[in-house]
Amino acid sequence: MLPPLNLYNTLTHSKEAFIPRNPDQIWMYSCGPTVYSTPSIGNYRAFFTADLIRNTLANLYDYPVKSIMNITDVWHLTSDGDTWEDKLEKWAKKDWITAREVASKYEKQFLDGLAQLNIDKFDVMPRATDHISQQQVIVQALIDKWYTYIIDWDGIYMDTSRVEDYGELMWPNYKKRLENLNAGERVNFTWKKNATDFALWKFSPDDKVWEKRQMERDFPPYGMWFPGRHIECSAMSSEYLGQHFDIHHGWADHITIHHPNEIAQSESAFDIHHPDRRVRYRLHNEFLQVNGGKMSKSLWNVYTLSDLEDKGFSPLDLRFFFFMAHYRTQQNFTREALKQAQTTRNNIQKKLSNYSYPLDQHIDRSSPLFIALTNSLADDLNTPKMLSTLNSSLSNLDQSTLSTIYRFEKNILKVWLFDSISLLWQNDIPQSIIDLANQRLAAKKDKNFALADQIRTQIWEQGFTITDTPDWFEITLD
Ligand SMILES: [Zn+2]
Repeated sequence: MLPPLNLYNTLTHSKEAFIPRNPDQIWMYSCGPTVYSTPSIGNYRAFFTADLIRNTLANLYDYPVKSIMNITDVWHLTSDGDTWEDKLEKWAKKDWITAREVASKYEKQFLDGLAQLNIDKFDVMPRATDHISQQQVIVQALIDKWYTYIIDWDGIYMDTSRVEDYGELMWPNYKKRLENLNAGERVNFTWKKNATDFALWKFSPDDKVWEKRQMERDFPPYGMWFPGRHIECSAMSSEYLGQHFDIHHGWADHITIHHPNEIAQSESAFDIHHPDRRVRYRLHNEFLQVNGGKMSKSLWNVYTLSDLEDKGFSPLDLRFFFFMAHYRTQQNFTREALKQAQTTRNNIQKKLSNYSYPLDQHIDRSSPLFIALTNSLADDLNTPKMLSTLNSSLSNLDQSTLSTIYRFEKNILKVWLFDSISLLWQNDIPQSIIDLANQRLAAKKDKNFALADQIRTQIWEQGFTITDTPDWFEITLD
């Protein structure tokens, strides 16, 4: 029996045992990337967290998980006071290509990055621009239910004073905080009724016909429009997961605007009234800092995966580095810290490669190591604790310990800790074949694919088949 999985729920501002709506189907949604530039390593910390949540649920707790991560292929205004400029279109103009081409280019980079970090694709990865009609349906429902008002020449706004418990995600004492916020807002001149009201959609300016937006749509009787920045997540999550699901995950900066607004528009449009909730568990990961400060384009300290590779690091060193901090703490990225992650990972690989007996496919869930590793993840995904437990187990390796580590490596860590042929499941493969397989692995790492293919043929000729697995390979007797 596994311990209950405790997760910090931003909605209740406390750690809670995870209880699925239906244990036969766990549904989770993660807010994904806006594809207008190469993802930074900070962006990947969020995708890594989504992967960690999913793998813990699916591979450790054995729940059937359906996971969604959206792809935002239209730039949204970062605030209601923003200019009309669409960054995707700005980039497109610069390079003489369409916004669609910009989005495709960076979507591919994002997906390649996931693969390099051993993050499996999410079950559905929908694009915002493919779900415009679903966004319109939700906005129309909100208009019909009198949750909205129009600001001329600007857009259709959500009246947050009509929303049940608006702001609860932001602060435990949200009612008082909202009063203060609105009192402060009255000092400033604004057409909005409440400080927290937000645009569901914005009208396209008629007078700027020569700057027609590539992603705008006609929506009679309101004319040309483009969506506000929150509505797409309501549309895509309900399209694939329905009106209720289990987990919604995003970044810490979604706690103040994006997610309260997503909750407000979804629960209002779908007539969900408290204590019933659209989503019971709201999870948020903290930022990645660089050298103790904010990562920002204006500070020239935004690193990408290829920047790290140029400095001699593998994307899996970064993956290992992410495990070294709890997802709800700000993790400080420095070159030294990444170097330390790389060294630790290499040391574990070396240690594990010294053992040459075949692994037990059976997993002993009652072994002290399995229990200790599970307990650390059950405690709000405490990955630093999991790593230190794993590290101390290395001083006392036996077959059961190795099998447990292998299982966590394969299902959760995925950082190629078992980088050695000595740990094959089968023990009836001749040493000469194992040696060839090792040579082939080395050739593949050197990107000498011709040699790798040649060795594969050599192995095949001797009656064995070598099959590549995502993190390893298997040899079978034909
Ligand atoms: Zn979102």
